[in-house]
Amino acid sequence: MQNEKMTGSGRLRGKTAVVTGASRGIGRAIALRLAAEGADVVINYQGSRERAEEVKARIEELGGTARVMQCDVADFAACEAFLKEVTKQAGRLDILVNNAGITRDGLLMRMSEEDYDAVLNTNLKGTFNCIRFAARQMLRQKSGRIINISSVSGVLGNAGQANYSASKAGIIGLTKSAARELASRGITVNAIAPGFVNTEMTEGLSDKVKEGAVAQIPLGKFGEPEDIAEAAVFLASEGARYITGQVLHVDGGMAM
Ligand code: NAP
Repeated sequence: MQNEKMTGSGRLRGKTAVVTGASRGIGRAIALRLAAEGADVVINYQGSRERAEEVKARIEELGGTARVMQCDVADFAACEAFLKEVTKQAGRLDILVNNAGITRDGLLMRMSEEDYDAVLNTNLKGTFNCIRFAARQMLRQKSGRIINISSVSGVLGNAGQANYSASKAGIIGLTKSAARELASRGITVNAIAPGFVNTEMTEGLSDKVKEGAVAQIPLGKFGEPEDIAEAAVFLASEGARYITGQVLHVDGGMAM
């Protein structure tokens, strides 16, 4: 794993951050970077408890603080209980990164209702659910940072990903609406749209698909989870206080 050192400047000291789907991939990298900047991090996962515990152990080994909390983000009632528990345990909630996401790829004409619903429920409704209950505490605090992980597929569309692209485009609309509603209370809401990133989500792609993807990336390669984590830390930091309702493309130039 690259750049896994606690080399931050401590600019998020005293902040509590929730990262959904932080047991691996991009969420894991974001959790590590937020912790490196001094944030107390809640590592959320759905099924991979051991891997989430490994992320916590890694953060502690590097001098940071973290806790592990299970929640299926697609479950509205479970999200309410989860975010209430975060506030109870940590006493505050400053940063929410809606990163949990899944794919169930297939051509439109063959896509099952189940695969469509599963992706929309986790990616889009999950993002809504967490904003819905995290915003309660942020409104009380009159401050907060919400960062939603969209995708280049939500910006450009992608054959074979009608469900996923719809969910990620929906996240952009949700981000902008939430940004408008919450701005007057000191809460910013932004999205990051990653391009192709080396994680378990993309490792199953065939060599042919990977080559086709690389051909569309001006910088000529897939990104790393740490590239997305850097953008998330920026949006969570004081330096981004005047930025809201934006989509930050971290995609090697795919969508410009
Ligand atoms: P990944 O390696 O497959 O990891 C997905 C994470 O989401 C895991 O921690 C998983 O937890 C969690 N998760 C899945 N369903 C969940 C649920 N219902 N409730 C709570 N957590 C859940 O994926 P990744 O590549 O890191 O992707 C992270 C985010 O970036 C996703 O939103 C994805 O759509 C987006 N993205 C990825 C790429 C890419 O190329 N990799 C590009 C653009 C956008 P468990 O381990 O417990 O299942």
